[in-house]
Amino acid sequence: MQKHRDRQELSRLRFTLEGCLAELQRVLRVVFGRSALVKGNVYELARKCGKPNCICTRGELHRSMVLTWSEKGKSRLLSLPSKRVAEVKKKSEEYLRFRRARARVTEIHRDILALLDRIEKLRREEPLR
Ligand SMILES: [Zn+2]
Repeated sequence: MQKHRDRQELSRLRFTLEGCLAELQRVLRVVFGRSALVKGNVYELARKCGKPNCICTRGELHRSMVLTWSEKGKSRLLSLPSKRVAEVKKKSEEYLRFRRARARVTEIHRDILALLDRIEKLRREEPLR
């Protein structure tokens, strides 16, 4: 027969577990999406070109929109034509949401396993002798 306190603790753990499952379902919504994902960040790059008499030497830097990402530990950069900026930006934001969801799944997963261990401990009983 379980002690009253153990039963209270068990129902509290079950309640917390239900909460984890609900959050997992909510977090996974982004994963069930179908839109394309682009890894990287879109931002405006302002730079000097290096030509000695260019306007950029007087402070008017060359501006362009770029996508940067890392690949096998190397930083990559791609200039974006202006007609593609909005689209790539949206896809890169979606990628970020996807990766955040993935990170959250790892945490929830860990929480669920910890709850299962506590539930197991409370429900376990020594075999009858
Ligand atoms: Zn220049």
